[in-house]
Amino acid sequence: MDIIVQKYGGTSVNSPELRDKIVENVIKAREDGIATVLVVSAMGRKGEAYATDTLQNLIPAHYKDSRFMDMLISCGEIISTTVIATHLMDYGIEAISLTGGQAGILTDSTYGSANIVKVDGTYLQELLEEGKVPIVAGFQGQNEKGEITTLGRGGSDTSAVLLGITLKAKNVEIFTDVDGIMTADPKLVPNAKLIEEINYDDVFQLAQYGAKVIHPKAVDLAMQYNIPLKVINTSKYGESIGTLINNHPTNSAGLVAAVAHEYGKIQWSLSTKTRDKEIFKLMASNNISIDMINIFIDQSVFITNDIHKEKLIKILEENKIDYKYVNHCTKITIIGSKIRGVPGIMAKIMASLEGDISILQTSDSHTTISILVPTDVANRAVNLLHGSFNL
Ligand code: ADP
Ligand code: MG
Repeated sequence: MDIIVQKYGGTSVNSPELRDKIVENVIKAREDGIATVLVVSAMGRKGEAYATDTLQNLIPAHYKDSRFMDMLISCGEIISTTVIATHLMDYGIEAISLTGGQAGILTDSTYGSANIVKVDGTYLQELLEEGKVPIVAGFQGQNEKGEITTLGRGGSDTSAVLLGITLKAKNVEIFTDVDGIMTADPKLVPNAKLIEEINYDDVFQLAQYGAKVIHPKAVDLAMQYNIPLKVINTSKYGESIGTLINNHPTNSAGLVAAVAHEYGKIQWSLSTKTRDKEIFKLMASNNISIDMINIFIDQSVFITNDIHKEKLIKILEENKIDYKYVNHCTKITIIGSKIRGVPGIMAKIMASLEGDISILQTSDSHTTISILVPTDVANRAVNLLHGSFNL
C-alpha cells in the first residue's frame, strides 16, 4: 500500500470550503490506491481564535518554553484534528484524530523546542491497515512521561516529514495558501513565479534565509532520507502542480533561484578591543544568536533579531561596552546553488538597487549573498533584485 503524508497549514483548515477540499484530496488519493495520513496546524493566522499566537497570549510571556505553555499552545492543533476528522467522517471516511504523542512522536523535555527522540509508526500502520485516515496534530510530540511538548515554529512541517520517513511514504505534500515555492514571497513581489522543481539545497537555504513557506528543519530531514516533498496550493489541488522538491542537482533554472527576506533585524556595532571574547560568550549563554558577523581590529559588527534588543542592551551596559545600533533593518538574500564562484554577482546587486537604497552590510556563502538594508526600502529592494536577476 502506497502512503502519502499531507500537511495542511493554518490557512488551509479554517473554513468549511477548505475542509471540503481536504476531503476531496483524501478521496482522490484513495481512488489512486494511496492511503493518506494528515498532519494539521492550528486553525487560522495571528489574531484568530484558535491560532497559536492567540493561545500563547492567554498566559504571561514569561511562561514561554515551559510545560504550561506547551500544554496551552498544543491545543490549537488538537482542535484542528478533531474538526477535520469529524468532517471526513461526515463524508463517510473513517478518520481518527490523534495528538502527536498518540501518533508515535516521542521527544525529550525541551519545552518549546523539543528534540525528537524516536518516532514509532506502529499505531499509525495499524490504523492505515484498518482503512482509517489518521489526522495528527502537527507541531507536537510527547516526552517519556507522556507530557505534551512542542517542536518550535514551523513544527508541523517537521511532524509531517518525520511521519513520512517513518511510514516510508511515497512523498510528503505540504498544503498551503500559495501556489508552491516561488521566486520570492508572492505577498511582497506580485510577479514572483512558481518554481516547479527545485533541489533540497536551494529550498533549505531559502527557508533558512526567511521564506517561511516551509521550515528548514523539515527540508533537512527530507533531504537526509531522500523523501520527495511537494508544496501545493490547497484550493488548487489537481489544477496546479505546485513545487516538487528532490535531490536533482540541476533542478533550479538560472543562476539565482530565488530572493528571500527577513524583517526585524538590528545591526550592532561594538567598540571591542580586549573584551570581545567575553561579550560573544555572554551573548551565546543568553541565547542571543548573531549573524552577518564582521570583526575588525577595534570594532565588531553583527546583526540580531529585534526581539533580543533589550536583553543585549542590558548585557552591553553591564559590561561597559560602547555600542551603537541601527533599528528596523531587513536582511535580503539571493540564493542559488549555481552562484558558486561566479564573478560579478555583487556588482549586479549594486547596479540593480536605486541610489537611495543604502546597503548597511553584506555577507555571503557559496550559494547565497545577503545584504542588509533599512526596512522602509526593503520591499522595493526585493522587487528590484527579483527583476534584475530575471526571476
Ligand atoms: P502555512 O500556515 O500553510 O504553514 P505559512 O505562512 O507558514 O503557511 O507559509 C506560507 C507563506 O509563505 C505564504 O503565504 C507566503 O507569503 C510565504 N512565503 C515567503 N516566501 C515564499 C516563497 N519564496 N514562496 C512561497 N511562499 C513564500
Ligand atoms: Mg508554515
